[in-house]
Amino acid sequence: MMESFDWERLGDIALGRENLGTEMPVIVYRLLQYTMRDELVARYGEGVATEVLRNAGYRAGISFCRNVIKERGSFNSFIADVQKQLKRLKIGIFRVEKADINNMKFVLTVSEDLDCSGLPVSGDTVCDYDEGFISGILQEFTGQRFAVQEVDCWATGDRTCRFVADRI
Ligand SMILES: [Zn+2]
Repeated sequence: MMESFDWERLGDIALGRENLGTEMPVIVYRLLQYTMRDELVARYGEGVATEVLRNAGYRAGISFCRNVIKERGSFNSFIADVQKQLKRLKIGIFRVEKADINNMKFVLTVSEDLDCSGLPVSGDTVCDYDEGFISGILQEFTGQRFAVQEVDCWATGDRTCRFVADRI
């Protein structure tokens, strides 16, 4: 098991950006993500690039859950908190479409997704980072590992991103 990301490394943004503040336009986030993806693809190919982004998202999901999500009473209260925090941080509008708790199988959607909403339609799902992010969040709450696959994406012509999560 890889070590989790240290949240402290993100620093005190309010302290460091006294005038500019803690927020910035989505385009800046996407510029970083998609140039990073290009460089990873150029050096290592699509397969490795996807894996690197997914694993980075997984680290982020675990760390996000540990540091941001406080509601752990029940699955429903946990999901409600995840939904609230993802909206507060403007990552996206998160919903659980189907939840089979006994078999640990979920269908989750993210609308107005930070990574992809509004991208040109390429026919391929692009939210590899989100796949990892969601699997990290689910793992942190349940203690089980999940394989998460994006089945619909803005980039495949859908208006919302849809993820299927299965315990592995
Ligand atoms: Zn997507």
